[in-house]
Amino acid sequence: MKKLQQLLYDIDGKSYKAYKSIQGRYSFHRFEIMIDYVQGDPFAAPSKIRIIIPDAYRKMYSNWKDNHHRKVYAEDIIARSVAEAIHENTKVSKGSGKSGLIAIDAPGQEILERTAVTIDPNHVTICLSIGLPANGRRINGKEAQKLFIDIIPGILSQSVFSIKDERIEQAVQLADQHQEIRRQMKENGWVAFVADGAILPRQSGVSNKPLNHAVPFVSPKENTVEFNIPHQSEPLTGMAIKKGVTLIVGGGYHGKSTLLNAIERGVYHHRKGDGREYVLTDPGSVKVRAEDGRQVTCVNISSFINDLPHKQDTRNFSTENASGSTSQAANVVEALEAGASTILIDEDTSATNFMIRDQRMQALVSKEKEPITPFIDKIKQMKDQLDVSTILVMGGSGDYFDVADQVIMMDQYKPINVTEKAKEIASSYPSKRHIHPDESFGSLPKRSFSQNSLQTRRGKKTKVQAKGLSTIIMGKTDVNLQYVEQLVDHSQTNMIAEIIRYLDQQNILKQQSLYQLLDMIEQQMDQKGLASFAPFPNQHPGDLARPRRYEIAATLNRLRTAQVKDLL
Ligand code: ADP
Ligand code: MG
Repeated sequence: MKKLQQLLYDIDGKSYKAYKSIQGRYSFHRFEIMIDYVQGDPFAAPSKIRIIIPDAYRKMYSNWKDNHHRKVYAEDIIARSVAEAIHENTKVSKGSGKSGLIAIDAPGQEILERTAVTIDPNHVTICLSIGLPANGRRINGKEAQKLFIDIIPGILSQSVFSIKDERIEQAVQLADQHQEIRRQMKENGWVAFVADGAILPRQSGVSNKPLNHAVPFVSPKENTVEFNIPHQSEPLTGMAIKKGVTLIVGGGYHGKSTLLNAIERGVYHHRKGDGREYVLTDPGSVKVRAEDGRQVTCVNISSFINDLPHKQDTRNFSTENASGSTSQAANVVEALEAGASTILIDEDTSATNFMIRDQRMQALVSKEKEPITPFIDKIKQMKDQLDVSTILVMGGSGDYFDVADQVIMMDQYKPINVTEKAKEIASSYPSKRHIHPDESFGSLPKRSFSQNSLQTRRGKKTKVQAKGLSTIIMGKTDVNLQYVEQLVDHSQTNMIAEIIRYLDQQNILKQQSLYQLLDMIEQQMDQKGLASFAPFPNQHPGDLARPRRYEIAATLNRLRTAQVKDLL
């Protein structure tokens, strides 16, 4: 600490570049600070430091860190406490650029594995970004001293050193509960569980926080299940959705999309108080939508699309500008290729001609003239031949009654199981549309990406960088992830960018199928951690959070530079 103080004193007033000399390791009373990266000027990306706190100064009990899930939740709650303490100490900005900034990669509503806080067997590491203070382009050593000697230790005192054991204990108990719900789901073949009392709607399209005064969820009695979870005497009750085809119907504005959105986010775990903390979904669920204009590279979409006007081969379909229906077809088969076990679809974001084709239209436009086999004619084959379930919001067509295993109606935000009624209606008004019941689903793509899919050069430099939640800049092109709806945290996007950079450097793309590649990436995340993909894995690795394999695949699938071979 004295050494750092002296250094800052010495460089006070010098040109900003002199800050580079403070890179290194400094001992404080209860922790060490590692200054890993020093920004080049006050306006550049902030400097990166790590705080290392030995177990002796902040005990982390073994039952918080021995089990992977519990450890992620304990790390998450500590990151939240640091973020709260930073918030309370917000700087009155002193100096130019990012002077005085202190930030941690704070979690949102989800509890994700992230690099912000890591609990190791003998110490805790906290990764911060800081703006080293300047006046113009001159070092402000006094403010820098204040930052390191007063403010940062103060923030640590108010967070990691004072967070109550009970708060961490509660966080890890939620991990146990989530794992138990997941175990129940697996054992009973449920693809989704929505607890009674859950709050599903969000404050707004841009806020992920619960809506105030919302109507709490109540399960229909036909779907209600009850089971015990740890750390709670009352059993948990709620709606279970079994594997198979589930239709969500109901009038406009009655809460259909809200239910599906909560289900699609249920692949992640949510913090206490979110309203969705007991809403969980098959982790292999993928939300699929229409996405006009997206790049598609060598995807076998022949299950859904055939005989295009210019005799384009749909077993090996590429376009730089897909239509609504072809993009949605590609999104379905790419999800299946990556290993999805449940497909989620909302009519609001679907291409109508991909979803339905009624009797009259079949009569007017013969099958030979219509390239699209609508989803309704494949949904059963998907279930029977591929063991892939579907949850579908469809208020506009009763044709789906024929193929649904169950029908849930949203009525003023209350779900009602109307399966029997829908089946009755289906038999009293039989649909005369022509179906092809014994058709097979068709073949799926099994592709490998060649190494030069990754065109990461930008001038003389390599550039792969996330920009916000939904853009990755790779070399000279941008990858647009705006419609990849289950990408929820910009640090996941950072992580995907790091993975691409890593794949580029390691030269390991070719020879393996996309599926195997995703397995390999997941295995490395499991065994070596997220930081193992970063350029300096033993330093501050950047703000990284764990993405799912489906969102990694979605990124590769949207590369405008992809070069792909189907291995079948
Ligand atoms: P649909 O898809 O059936 O047309 P939405 O799911 O889009 O309907 O919901 C319509 C509106 O109702 C949204 O503004 C949503 O926030 C609100 N909403 C949904 N569920 C609830 C609820 N349980 N309590 C209060 N408002 C809700
Ligand atoms: Mg809707």
